[in-house]
Amino acid sequence: MSSPALDILAIAAHRDDVEQTCGGSLLKMAQCGRRTGILDLTQGEMGTRGSARERADEAAEAARILQISWRQALDIPDGRVENTWLNRLKVTRVIREQRPRVVILPYWQGRHPDHYTASVLGYEACFLAGLSKLGKAGARGRESGVGVEAHSFSRGQPNAEEEADLTAVASLPPHRPFKIIYATLYYDIRPSFVVDITEQFEGRLQSIYAYKSQFTDQAAGANDFPAHAEIRDRVATMAGFYGLLAGVKYAEPFLQKEVGLVEDLLKIPVKSL
Ligand SMILES: [Zn+2]
Repeated sequence: MSSPALDILAIAAHRDDVEQTCGGSLLKMAQCGRRTGILDLTQGEMGTRGSARERADEAAEAARILQISWRQALDIPDGRVENTWLNRLKVTRVIREQRPRVVILPYWQGRHPDHYTASVLGYEACFLAGLSKLGKAGARGRESGVGVEAHSFSRGQPNAEEEADLTAVASLPPHRPFKIIYATLYYDIRPSFVVDITEQFEGRLQSIYAYKSQFTDQAAGANDFPAHAEIRDRVATMAGFYGLLAGVKYAEPFLQKEVGLVEDLLKIPVKSL
């Protein structure tokens, strides 16, 4: 725990998911002095364009643009994000290391299995991170392959990777995030609230453009301008739609499972008429 705790940690399956779903909100929070982080579960080796190495450089550049304090990619196979004990442990370890107060997860439904699986995996890892006995000596045997889905490798004897993660998790104090919110932009559902990103819209767009290997060679023979224009158009349309719902120019949508709590009825934002 050499670094201070994160205020907000966004977790997503693929590099560039966070930029596309909640990059503006992260930038806004950083501009307010908050410490923000991104955990990508995969490294992007299955992408049609570009290598995992290129995507790592692009992700670093996007993080710089969004003023992210901390970013890491796990080694979960791209296209095979599964909610396994081992994967939950990897995410739990990060949550205990980074100690975020707010966690942003992908919405739990969607077209891409990696996205909705990342949602459940992230939620369960947040829960596990708060269990004080997790990884401690007396609880070891019961955790491995008992009471969780069967894994041939983790039945009875934990393998080396699981052992290392469990030891790391056990060496860190328990931590449970105060709040989990879901970024819903990939899915057509009415959000519980939106964040006004009018001032951050350009920055968020630049963070998406940072993924040059993904967005500059869309059509044969075309220079990168049309691809960029098309992306700007799409991003602006979505952000404009959610902005319209709240009476601002651009916004990003989120869902919370809890109800909203209001102290002063005169300060509820978004006018009705
Ligand atoms: Zn994705």
